[in-house]
Parts: sequence; structure tokens; C-alpha cells
Amino acid sequence: GISVQNVDKHFGSFHAIDNVSLNIETGSLVALLGPSGSGKSTLLRMIAGLEQPDSGEIFLTGENATYRSVQDRGIGFVFQHYALFKHLTIRQNIAFPLEIRKAKPSQIRHRVEELLNLVQLRGLGDRYPSQLSGGQRQRVALARALAVQPKVLLLDEPFGALDAKVRKELRTWLRKLHNEVHVTTVFVTHDQEEAMEVADQIVVMNEGRIEQVGSAAELYDSPASPFVMSFIGPVN
Ligand code: ATP
Ligand code: MG
Repeated sequence: GISVQNVDKHFGSFHAIDNVSLNIETGSLVALLGPSGSGKSTLLRMIAGLEQPDSGEIFLTGENATYRSVQDRGIGFVFQHYALFKHLTIRQNIAFPLEIRKAKPSQIRHRVEELLNLVQLRGLGDRYPSQLSGGQRQRVALARALAVQPKVLLLDEPFGALDAKVRKELRTWLRKLHNEVHVTTVFVTHDQEEAMEVADQIVVMNEGRIEQVGSAAELYDSPASPFVMSFIGPVN
């Protein structure tokens, strides 16, 4: 799993993450939910190693990863605008992380076909990204993130740029995918409906702090603060 312990982060004098501690169970699908500017991406980026905390520590699968490079953390990530390589086919895009790790060509071919099946894009492997829909491209990005069999998958609003219908489809699909591969997944969203539908556990963030962690039902039935109540509560 993932353990974040007393993590702090400032940008200049601005306190972006304020003494955050969080435990995420191995194999769970967790949503970081909160309004714009609440620190979701900053927290995710620190888990990924793209941003260094001022203080505190981050453990990944039981080991202190705080001072490890991004490459050494055993993570895969997909960000909202994490572009595919335009000049590479879908197959080549998915193969890319395996190639830079110098995997054997036969292994790469096998793994790429496996991943194309997993994200249900078999048959589109020879196309270029510009020949796919937005939702299909995000699935390719997910396949690429999964290529190296990460222990942790981090998704920052992976469906944010897509229209409502496609978002809904991808949500359902992400849940299904997670049921198949069981990789510990943290995904950022500011959409409460998305969090409640997809996640096992929801982490509600506000102004750099965690307001509450719980299942959709727990947050709904017993919100820990007026903020959680207003953010999660019945839509009227
Ligand atoms: P959104 O939903 O809009 O993506 P978020 O919850 O992901 O918001 P963060 O991106 O984590 O929010 O930012 C938290 C706060 O830290 C914001 O006020 C943001 O302006 C600030 N911040 C983030 N990165 C930097 C940076 N590199 N330099 C200065 N301030 C930053
Ligand atoms: Mg963000």
C-alpha cells in the first residue's frame, strides 16, 4: 500500500499541504476528492516523486520512498494532459516504457498484446493517436502506465478533458479494469459523483488538509465536517 506520514509542502509562503497523513491499503482504489486548489495534484505528485515534500515521509509497499527518484518508485501514472507520442503507433506507445527498460522484443510483443486486450483496444494497435477518440487515447495512456506492472497507479483527473458521456463510460471501465488487475490505485477528481461511483475509499481534501477518509456511504451518512457535508451531501 501507500503510507503518507506528516507531509508538509509550501510554495513560497503558501501552505499547499498541511501535515497530511494517509494510509492506502494494497489493492484498493482510492479517490482524492476536493475543490480546485485543495492540494490533490500536489499530494499525488509527491507520492509519484515529481515533487519533494518539505517534511514528512512517504512509504510505498512498506519501503521509505521519500528520497527515491520517480523511476525507482514502481509507479505508473496518467495525467489529464499526459500526451501520447504522436509519431508512434498505439502499439509503439505502449511498448515505449518497456523498450527504455530494455525488455526482450518477444516479451514486449507479448505484453503489448496483453495490454491492448486489457484496455479493449485490440485491432487499433497500428493506428496513430490522432486516429483515436479522446476516451480511447486515455485508455492507451493507462495501458502504457500499466506496461511495467507498477505496484501503484496514480491518475490525475485522467478523464477530465472528456465529455460527460465518455467520462461515465471510462469510470465504469476503470472500475472493471481495477477488479481485473488489483493494482493499488489513487485517482484525483473534483467530481463527487465520479469518486462515489468508482472508489472503495474517498479522501476528501480541503485547503491542503484531509477532512475525512471513508467509503461513499460513510461520508454520506456521517460527514465529519460541514465542508464534507456540503461537498458530498445530497445534490439539490
Ligand atoms: P485542481 O483541482 O484545480 O487541479 P488541486 O487540488 O490539484 O487543484 P494543486 O494543484 O495541488 O490543487 O494546488 C494546490 C495549491 O498549491 C494551489 O493553490 C496552487 O496554486 C498551489 N500550487 C501548486 N503548484 C504550485 C507551484 N509549482 N508553485 C506555486 N504554487 C503552486
Ligand atoms: Mg489538480
